[in-house]
Amino acid sequence: MNFKIAVVAGDGIGPEVMEENIKVLNAVGEKYGHSFEYNYVLGGGCAIDKYGEPLPQETIDVCKASDSVLLGAVGGWQWDTLPGDKRPERALLGLRGALGLYANLRPATLHQALAGACPLKPELVADGVDIMVVRELTGGMYFGEKGRKQTDMGEAAYDVEIYSEKEVERIARRGFEIAMQRGKHLTNVDKQNVLESSRLWRSVVNKVAEDYPEVTLDHLYVDNASMQLIMRPTTFDVIVTSNIFGDILSDEASQMTGSIGMLPSASLGDGSLGMYEPVHGSAPDIAGKDIANPIATILSGAMMLKYSFGLDKEAKDIEDAVTKVLNEGYRTADIYSEGMKKVGTKEMGRLIIERL
Ligand code: NAD
Repeated sequence: MNFKIAVVAGDGIGPEVMEENIKVLNAVGEKYGHSFEYNYVLGGGCAIDKYGEPLPQETIDVCKASDSVLLGAVGGWQWDTLPGDKRPERALLGLRGALGLYANLRPATLHQALAGACPLKPELVADGVDIMVVRELTGGMYFGEKGRKQTDMGEAAYDVEIYSEKEVERIARRGFEIAMQRGKHLTNVDKQNVLESSRLWRSVVNKVAEDYPEVTLDHLYVDNASMQLIMRPTTFDVIVTSNIFGDILSDEASQMTGSIGMLPSASLGDGSLGMYEPVHGSAPDIAGKDIANPIATILSGAMMLKYSFGLDKEAKDIEDAVTKVLNEGYRTADIYSEGMKKVGTKEMGRLIIERL
C-alpha cells in the first residue's frame, strides 16, 4: 500500500527524533511492501524564522492533502518573547483545528525493563501497565465561554464547561472503537454526581454503548478515577473522558512509564487522518547533541500505522522491536541507570531497526 505523510519535524530535538522515526517506518515499509511518501513542511519556530508565522497556509494544505501527519516538537528560547498568538506552539492548536482533530489518544505503557523508573510499588504494576487515555480535545471548559464580572464578593471569573450530544457521541464512539482494537474494556470518567454536563455526557456514552455489546463499560467519577489509577493501574484498558479531566488523568497515567522520552500520542478526527507526535517538547537543552530519546516519536509512528492506516501487525512489530532493545539493556540518557548500555539518538534508532 502507498501512503502520503506530511512531516512537521519542527524545532529543537524535533528533527533529530523524526529522522529516526522515518528510518524505522521505511524499514517496516520495506519488510511489508508498503511505500511511504513524505512531504516535509515547516511549523513552529522554524516557520516563524522563514515566513514570519508559526503555521503557514502551505503547511495546512499539505497536511490536509495527506493520509496522516507526523509532528516532532515545536518551540525554543529564541521565540519565547513573542506574543501568545505568534508563538511556535500556535502551530499545534492551529493544525488540530484545521484538521478537525477532536480525540487525543495518550497511551501509558510501562515496559517491564523500565519498571524501576515507575514511582509505584513493584507489586502494583507487576501485571504490566497498558492504559489508553482517550481525551476530548476541542470542547468543554477550555473552549467554553469565559469572562470576568464584578460581584459583591469582588471580581469574579468563569469558564463554562459545555458539551453537546454530538461532541460526546463522537468521542465516545472513538473510545469504544479503540477498546474494540484492544482489551474491549472501556472506563468512562465523569463527575455526574455534581455536573449537569457530566449527566448529559454519561447518558450519551450509555446510548453509544448499545452499539458495542462486546465492550465492557464501567463509569468512574473523576476523583475516584485518579485514586484507582494509582491503586490498581493494571486493571484499566481504555479510558474515555472530557478535555479537562483527560488533561489531568493522562499526565497522571504517564508518570507510571518512566520518562517523557517514552510517551507517544495521537490526535484523531472523523476520518482516518490523524496527527502523531511525542508528548515531550523540543527540549532545547539537549538539541543537536545526539542524546534525545527517539522512542516516543518512533512509537507515535507505530500509532499512525495502527490508527490511520490499519496496519496493526506492522505497528506491533515496531513496539516489539522497542521492547527487545530495552530488554537488552540499551538506554538513552533520560532512561539510563547503572549497569545499562548508554546509547545516543541515532544508535537507538539503528538498534530498533536491527530488531525489526
Ligand atoms: P520539554 O518536553 O521540551 O523538556 C522537558 C525536559 O525533558 C527537558 O529536560 C528535556 O531535556 C527532557 N526531554 C524532553 N524530551 C526528551 C527526549 N525525547 N529525550 C530525552 N529528554 C527529553 O519541555 P520544556 O522544556 O518545558 O519545553 C521546551 C520547549 O518545547 C518550549 O518552547 C515549549 O513551549 C515547547 N513544547 C512543545 C511541545 C510540543 O511541540 N508538542 C510540548 C511541550 C513543550
